[in-house]
Amino acid sequence: MLALVKDFSQRGVSLREVPRPEFSPYEVTVRVQAVGICGSDLRMFHEVKPGRKTIILGHELAGEIADIGEKVHGVKPGDRVATSICIGCASCRYCRKGYFNLCDKLEEIGVTIDGGMAEYVSVPARNVHRIPKSVTLEEATLADPLACSIRGLEMVSVQKDAWVTVLGPGTIGLLAVQIAKRVLRARVIVTGTREDRLALARQFGADHVVDVNHEDPVRFILDKTDGGADFAFEATGSGKALEDAFFSTKRNGSIVAMTVHKQVQINMEPVIRNELKVYGSICYNYKEFDQALDLIGKKKVDLEPFTRHLFPLREYDTAFAFAVSRQGIKAILKP
Ligand SMILES: [Zn+2]
Ligand SMILES: [Zn+2]
Repeated sequence: MLALVKDFSQRGVSLREVPRPEFSPYEVTVRVQAVGICGSDLRMFHEVKPGRKTIILGHELAGEIADIGEKVHGVKPGDRVATSICIGCASCRYCRKGYFNLCDKLEEIGVTIDGGMAEYVSVPARNVHRIPKSVTLEEATLADPLACSIRGLEMVSVQKDAWVTVLGPGTIGLLAVQIAKRVLRARVIVTGTREDRLALARQFGADHVVDVNHEDPVRFILDKTDGGADFAFEATGSGKALEDAFFSTKRNGSIVAMTVHKQVQINMEPVIRNELKVYGSICYNYKEFDQALDLIGKKKVDLEPFTRHLFPLREYDTAFAFAVSRQGIKAILKP
């Protein structure tokens, strides 16, 4: 079968003919029909880390079950499924509490083990989730980032009419805007640097958008919210944005940091003086993934702008270049 392989001894990826994967008694093989390109795929695309295991990329995948192991129950060949990314060991102290995303020996599909930028992928049966009838396979690839946004927002309890700032209108941020508006009924301000993304935020119901190139986001938010937002959802990866969240959230408010900041200088004073609560959120577990598929099935989120740009697997280089150019919001490969 064809697969997009990442060999970490060099930059880039290559399309290779590889054997169709085997499956254990507890695994299923999925015939992949759609797989999204994520920011983490773009990072790995360029990564050089000699010694790291060669893998097939792709974690935002959906398709049809082709084979099931003899111990698998609950799904059958032909079922339409999407896969959640985290494979916990099931025995460490975190897994035993249901925090598979925090597992001591965490494996991630398409990150540490073979993923779905290929014609077939084998995954543990517990990682496949049946897709509601009303959901297309392309839409189902968005269950992964949507589940991240759901988990992030669930770190805090957002009440109706609360002010939520979403910093960074990327995929995770724009999906968070939709949940905050359409599910939680909050009021939303979005900060960003790109006009097209801010326009999408408006389309998804944001009450206000701020282009930080032209306006001071902190002053804007303090002004619109009468002294500070109740919650901030940071999805930019920029230290400056996290600091903006600290300075524009009201006393005792909460901030969820969704992206990995490494070695940034941040003024922590408002966190202490205003008794802010700062949460980190990483990935998601089965529950949020099922919630995501359910919300997509109930048409609570508008995924049309995310499912417009489809590329055959063979045209992966065009698709990755498209994703890097950030012309559209999302590129989806069709193996
Ligand atoms: Zn992803
Ligand atoms: Zn574990």
